[in-house]
Formats: sequence, C-alpha cells, structure tokens
Amino acid sequence: MDFLIDPDTEAIAEAVLRFVEREVLPLEERHRDLLGSERTLFEANGRYVPEVLALKRQVRMRSAELGFYNLFGAEKLGGAEQGAQVMAHVQETLNHRIGPAHPLVQTVVLPSPFTNGLSPVLRHLQPEIFEPYRAGITSGEKTLCFGLSEPDAGSDAFGMKTRAVRDGDEWVLTGTKQWITNSPYADYAMVFALTDPEAAARHKGGVTGFFIDTRTPGFSVPRIINTMGHLGGETGVIVLDGVRVRDDHRLGEVGRGLAVAMDGVNAGRMGMAASCLGLARWALDQAVEYAKVRKTFGVPIAEHQAIQLMLADSAMDIYAAKTMIQNCAWRLDSGRSSTAQVSMVKAFSTEMLGRVMDRSIQIHGGMGLTNELRLEEGYRFARVMRIPDGTGEIQRRTIARQLLSGHADF
Ligand SMILES: Cc1cc2nc3c(=O)[nH]c(=O)nc-3n(C[C@H](O)[C@H](O)[C@H](O)COP(=O)(O)OP(=O)(O)OC[C@H]3O[C@@H](n4cnc5c(N)ncnc54)[C@H](O)[C@@H]3O)c2cc1C
Repeated sequence: MDFLIDPDTEAIAEAVLRFVEREVLPLEERHRDLLGSERTLFEANGRYVPEVLALKRQVRMRSAELGFYNLFGAEKLGGAEQGAQVMAHVQETLNHRIGPAHPLVQTVVLPSPFTNGLSPVLRHLQPEIFEPYRAGITSGEKTLCFGLSEPDAGSDAFGMKTRAVRDGDEWVLTGTKQWITNSPYADYAMVFALTDPEAAARHKGGVTGFFIDTRTPGFSVPRIINTMGHLGGETGVIVLDGVRVRDDHRLGEVGRGLAVAMDGVNAGRMGMAASCLGLARWALDQAVEYAKVRKTFGVPIAEHQAIQLMLADSAMDIYAAKTMIQNCAWRLDSGRSSTAQVSMVKAFSTEMLGRVMDRSIQIHGGMGLTNELRLEEGYRFARVMRIPDGTGEIQRRTIARQLLSGHADF
C-alpha cells in the first residue's frame, strides 16, 4: 500500500493553490470594500450585485485559461478528466491552505458538477447539440444550475410535480423547482420533470432530464432563499411556466432522468467531502496555534487536558475522514463499485467538519465567535453541507440498503 501523493497530483494542487494565492486572493483584497461584507455583496433581494458577478466571471475565465476550470470534466466534452484522487487532493489542499469565506474561490476556481464547468450530466446531451454550448461553458463565461428538488420533493425525488408534456418536436415544462444552487445567475439549467407520472408513482422511471437556456420564455427565478444567517446567496426558486424545450435538448432517454441526475453524484459528494476535510484541517491548525499562545491560570491553554482532548478528538476525526476519502477515491478511479462508500464518505466528512469547527470555536473562547476569525463561517458552512446532495439520513439509508443486499464490501 502506498499512500504517497504522486508528483503530478501534487504539482496540480500546488499550481491551483499558487493561482489562488497570487491572483485570486489579491483580487479579493483589492475589492475588500465590496467583498468584505454581506451588506455590499448582495442587493436587497438577495442577489449578488453586478460587480461581484463580474469578478466571479473574471476568476472563472482566468481559471479556465490556466487549465484548472476543466480539470475534472469528461475528455469527450473537452475536459482533462482527472480522477477522484486528484480531485480529492486538490480540494483538500486548497481548502486547508486558505480556509472558508472566500467569495471568489468557492465554486469559482474549480468546476462543480452542478453549477459550473463540464458537469457529468452534460454527457447525456447529444454531442452535436452540446457543441455550440461547449465554448461558453468551458471558458467559464456561462454557468449552469441543476434542478431536481422541489418544494415537495427533496430526498424523495419521485415526489416531484413538475411536468413535461410532449408537443410535436418540443416538450412543454410546467412546475416549480426549489433550492437550486446558482439558479439566479445560470445561463443554462439541467432540469428534471415527470414525463410519465404513473411510472414515477411506482418508482419505475417516468422522469426525464432537459437542457434549457434560462432565457427561454416562461423560465424565471422569482426568489432567492437565504440560509444560515446570510443576507443573500446562490440558492433560488425556479418557476417553469410553459417552458418549451426541443426534444433534441433532452438529457438522456425519456424516462431515465433520475439515472442521468445521479451521474454527477459521486463527483459532487467526493468534492464536498474533500473540501470538508481541507476546512477541518484549517480549523484544527487555527486551534493548535491559538492553544499555544492563549494563557489562562498562568499557562497556555494547550496545557489544560480539556483542551488537549478536543485537539486530539479533532485529529482523530480528520485522520479517519482523510483515510476514508483516499480509499474511496482510489476505489472510484479503479472502477470498483462504491455506492455505499461514497455515501459513508459524504456523511462522515460533513458531520466530521461540524464537530471539528465546533471544537475549534470552543478552544478560541469568545474570539471563536467573532466574524473576523472565519471559524463561525466555517461552522455555518459545515452545518449546511449535511443537507444538500443527500442528507445524512439518506446516506445512511443507502449504506444500509447496500449492506443488506450484500453490496457493501470494505
Ligand atoms: C444549500 C442547498 C443547496 C441545494 N442545491 C440544490 C441544487 O442545486 N439542486 C437541487 O436539485 N437540489 C438542491 N438542494 C436540495 C437538497 O438536495 C434537498 O434539500 C435535500 O435533498 C433534502 O430534501 P428536503 O429539503 O426536501 O428534505 P426532506 O426530504 O423533506 O427531508 C426532511 C427530513 O427527513 C429526513 N428523511 C427523508 N426521507 C427519509 C428516509 N427515507 N429515512 C430517514 N429520514 C428521511 C431527511 O434526512 C431530513 O432530515 C439544495 C439544498 C440546500 C440546503
């Protein structure tokens, strides 16, 4: 067994980090007046102000120019198709070194399977249909969103009500999507709708995916949903009011939409888990340093056993998550079935980050609660991550089902 990161992977991670440290963080610093407070980041309706959107676009396009933005996209779509091990190491390194709350870094520098770059879902668009969209998406100029969830359908996607009805060469979509990341800003939406409600009621297909230009008449994002104390953000409600989509803009076969939607699931969950690992390492570093310098009762708090126990618990958590992520990434890259393992990694890493952030805040005392140390932002981020892309309960349901059907080896 060799757990050493190979030199090529190390070089990619260092190059991404160098780009962020040399170009992106200084850009953030130059625009601190704009980016430093949520009061200036967002308009009253919760949307990013145009200047912020322009800066994000600038970073995306520069990242694409340098070859980072399409690192994980499928080769047949025009990406570099780096595997899960590279992705995990790059995400861990970046998040470890720079920490949370960087508006021009998170989901801007690197692709996300749901919002930017070459989403795996795009593999289900016919190549000749994708071709005219390729340049805009790979250059970072245009972005995406992924519309599966609805007010009455989150964990249970088959509960969706959005309908797509065939009309000649087109489909007509009507319904509401909720919680859709990047929907207020996206140029294109990958939307899933019922094409056979009876089949869906029996959990036997009946859902189909569509690729939609968000400027199509009937497509609107009337509302941003602010979460965890933020004044605005990226999560919105999509209303589809008789949106017409050509049949050749279908994502995969009719009735196979949920399989298509799940295509990006491994990449999304692994990326999220590795980001959580990196942020947990960042938070533990902060706690270790603070514990060495903060004194109470005449000694550094690092000498109190209660503090040492918290540091040790966080180290154990991080070590466990790192080992799981590395093993699972290797499984994915070597083509082993990994449904249960990816769910274990997603649930464990997101919950682990919550515990580590919580302990780091506790070790910092009152300072841990201040906005300036960014621990509280990391804590809020950790809490959010336990819900999207399958809740902790849904991951456990998947793990148990795999276990009970004999499909979860270790
Ligand atoms: C910040 C954010 C971004 C998101 N981005 C997107 C996006 O881009 N695109 C998209 O399509 N969706 C997105 N979502 C939606 C997300 O995927 C759903 O919120 C999630 O799947 C949970 O669905 P729900 O909120 O409807 O909760 P519900 O499904 O109603 O669940 C409520 C509670 O019941 C539990 N539960 C449900 N079923 C079971 C079961 N069988 N066994 C045990 N417990 C169960 C859940 O774990 C949860 O605790 C996003 C959500 C958030 C918060």
